[in-house]
Amino acid sequence: MILFKYFYVLKSIHILFQRETMPSIISKLFLKKEQVSLKATVLSLFFFITIILVLLLISQLLYFSKKLSYESINLKLTTLVKDIQTSMTTNNKTNANVLSLLSFQNSANLKFYTKILENNRSLYAVYTGYSNGSFYEVINLNIHPLLRKIYNATSKDQWLLIEILGSKPNEKKVTLLDKDLKPTSFSITENTYNPTLRPWYKNALHKKTLIKTKPYEFSNIPSKGVTYAQQLENSEDVVGIDVLIYDIQDILKKHITVAYMDAYLFTQDRLIISSLMNDNTLLELFFKKHSSFKEFETPQLITLNNKEYIVQILPFKNTNSSDYVALFSKYDNVVAPYKQQTYVLIAIFIASLLVLIPLIIYFSNIIVKPIYKLVEQSQNIKNRKFDSVNNIESPVLEVALLSASIKEMSNAIYSYQHSLEKKVQKRTQELSLKNQELLKLSITDKLTGLYNRVKLDKTLQDEMNRSLRTGDVFCVILMDIDFFKKINDGYGHQTGDDVLIETAQVLQKLLRKTDVLGRWGGEEFLIISPLTSLENGVKLANKINLFVQSHPYSTYKNQVTMSIGVAAFQKNITKPEEIVANADKALYEAKHNGRNQVKIFQ
Ligand code: GH3
Ligand code: MG
Ligand code: MG
Repeated sequence: MILFKYFYVLKSIHILFQRETMPSIISKLFLKKEQVSLKATVLSLFFFITIILVLLLISQLLYFSKKLSYESINLKLTTLVKDIQTSMTTNNKTNANVLSLLSFQNSANLKFYTKILENNRSLYAVYTGYSNGSFYEVINLNIHPLLRKIYNATSKDQWLLIEILGSKPNEKKVTLLDKDLKPTSFSITENTYNPTLRPWYKNALHKKTLIKTKPYEFSNIPSKGVTYAQQLENSEDVVGIDVLIYDIQDILKKHITVAYMDAYLFTQDRLIISSLMNDNTLLELFFKKHSSFKEFETPQLITLNNKEYIVQILPFKNTNSSDYVALFSKYDNVVAPYKQQTYVLIAIFIASLLVLIPLIIYFSNIIVKPIYKLVEQSQNIKNRKFDSVNNIESPVLEVALLSASIKEMSNAIYSYQHSLEKKVQKRTQELSLKNQELLKLSITDKLTGLYNRVKLDKTLQDEMNRSLRTGDVFCVILMDIDFFKKINDGYGHQTGDDVLIETAQVLQKLLRKTDVLGRWGGEEFLIISPLTSLENGVKLANKINLFVQSHPYSTYKNQVTMSIGVAAFQKNITKPEEIVANADKALYEAKHNGRNQVKIFQ
């Protein structure tokens, strides 16, 4: 889900890059099929930023921490090499000066030699080789504790003097001296050493100037050193000094203060001159694996003893040899501070995420929830649930305004609908009254106010249906005013109308509520008498006949009579007209028989 949103944001950015107009982007983003909620948009934007930050942190972890480590190693080694080089140059000068001082002394001098040894902490020995095979050497016993052991010297002994005489080349005299140059003991051993055959002697004679050997391992003590030698003035004799290269370790210690780094100084011939930890196994292992150091001029990551090391080796020029300084750093430890820094960043980042996500959700809810409520309100209006439309409380001004506006709209629609409903109700009432009137009119005879043919036909049909169903009997009485034409002709049409109206009123008075009276035609009236036998029908007809003929009309002075035909319902009748036709036949008979009488259809 989140991933989808993330791609959606990417899509949005993609659209932005297509330089489209803002409205088209908005329509593409929000009006098409894939609609996104505000909360989702904000969260996906946040997620997008998170991804970028995480990528940055990972690159910091993987790439920059390594790069920075390499850079710091490179810087460290470069300054270290410079320092070593400066120190070596200074040492070289000092040693050259000491030697040139010695070269002016024609013969060896114990006091002078010891003075020189005393003043130069790195001097191991001062000696002179004579062309006749004699040799004179003074060694500083303080230079290494092993020396006293080898020569059976006591702590009082300070100097060792070795003397070989050209006249006695098979004897070597070794004397131990205290600090006041007093001999404490001596020994004479067999000698095989001939100074004139030594390289330093030969080279110094050959070169005529100061010579310096390559660094080498001393035979008596586990240290490296260099020999400087020079021909003595006006002779074939050569003076030499052996110098320890131990001060390099001090420089290494000064530069490297952490346990996970080790540094070495070694010659091109892979002679290790100095090392920080006094443990050369790592470098020796390295030598076995790598024949060339060229590629290590920039830091390289290699595995030694199943551990990862960043190794950098820089060459530097010495007076007559080229030496190397190697720096071995445990990879894990070097990158640890950078990693730690990244972890701290990640922790801060996660913490801020944890704080920010609820905040984002909270703030988007402030906007989003009321919007959903607004949608609900509009649905309520649509469903006519006006009572459920409430004001939404929101700290967002626009939402509150919109809510108030929707509430007002709801009220307006409600009152409009209400007034519309009242109007409709009133109109419906009026209409139903009119309908009732219309119905009455449609079944009423205008002149007499009695029922007309429409109602009489309907009643006839109903009664016939009922009788057919229940077997009950009913009667029809058809009445016709005798010689009515004469009334019209003699007294005017208006009097005729009045007689018709008054006859209707007289007839109405004589009937039961269940009887239905109507105007059948011009001056003809019909009575439908439900649940009435023929016998009772005839009784009613006779009663009518008597009543009408004795009724004094208000607008007509003469007597009015009626001829009446009575018929009852019979089971063979299928149509309502038939029963009226039967009554009409009886009426015809009454007319024919002299009028003003009742006749029965048998
Ligand atoms: P009979 O005894 O045979 O029934 O004779 P009659 O004159 O009553 O019958 P006839 O059918 O010849 O005449 C009926 C007259 O009734 C004719 C007509 O003009 C008159 N008439 C019909 N309807 C009305 C009405 O609504 N008002 C008035 N004033 N006269 C009507
Ligand atoms: Mg008639
Ligand atoms: Mg008539």
